[in-house]
Amino acid sequence: MRRVVLKLSGEALASAASDETIDASTVDFLAREISRAMDRGGLELAVVVGGGNIWRGATGAMAGMNRANSDLMGMLGTVINALALQDAIESHGRPTRVMSAIGMDQVAEPYIRRRAVRHLEKGRVVIFAAGMGNPYFTTDTPAAQRAAEIEAEVVLKGTHGGVDGVYDEDPRINPKATKFDEISFDEVIARNLRVMDMTAITFCKDNNLPLRVFDLMAPGNLGLALDGHAVGTLVK
Ligand code: UDP
Repeated sequence: MRRVVLKLSGEALASAASDETIDASTVDFLAREISRAMDRGGLELAVVVGGGNIWRGATGAMAGMNRANSDLMGMLGTVINALALQDAIESHGRPTRVMSAIGMDQVAEPYIRRRAVRHLEKGRVVIFAAGMGNPYFTTDTPAAQRAAEIEAEVVLKGTHGGVDGVYDEDPRINPKATKFDEISFDEVIARNLRVMDMTAITFCKDNNLPLRVFDLMAPGNLGLALDGHAVGTLVK
């Protein structure tokens, strides 16, 4: 069994086309790809979902809010996204569990590592909500931290802005930017490449946790990444 953690940004659930915070057809597309990959077997999948489509802690802090309070709002946003994703994945017949890092008994199970692993072993897609439950982080770091904790072999970071991997420069600004098939954590840090938050990158480096960055929205790509194909860029 391959055990992987997939990091989805909250904005991946939104759509410019429909102007919705959570776009039903976009969520359904992701859920279908996840469910098909699970149906092929050999995969244990945990998803860490962000909340940037709803709220980012830094936005409120910049406007003068208390940072910890603003971050709590962001974490609650991830719970809303987790429930949307849960609903969509289950509509494709795949059982799921949402586990929250912030206690909310009527909404989601509490995060307990051994229980999360048991769900994975039983073929349930586990959705980690509320990040790590601590302010001053984004969901990139919990994606890496939970992956280490449940002994996942890789973190898959899906992008949604049309960038299909790690480049030496932003390809949306410089169309001649070069894409890496593989790059080391040291080089990502030295070049200050914006792959994930630096806290998450250094965590992956310190814990020998490889990271694959790939385009989430290209049809078929999520399935390929989940099935272990070499799409996008491998950071290790
Ligand atoms: N957040 C937090 N602690 C965590 C995870 C998330 O405080 O462990 C807050 C933080 O304010 C963040 C927001 O939740 O901005 C939403 O998460 P993120 O920005 O990672 O969403 P994404 O960009 O992945 O959609």
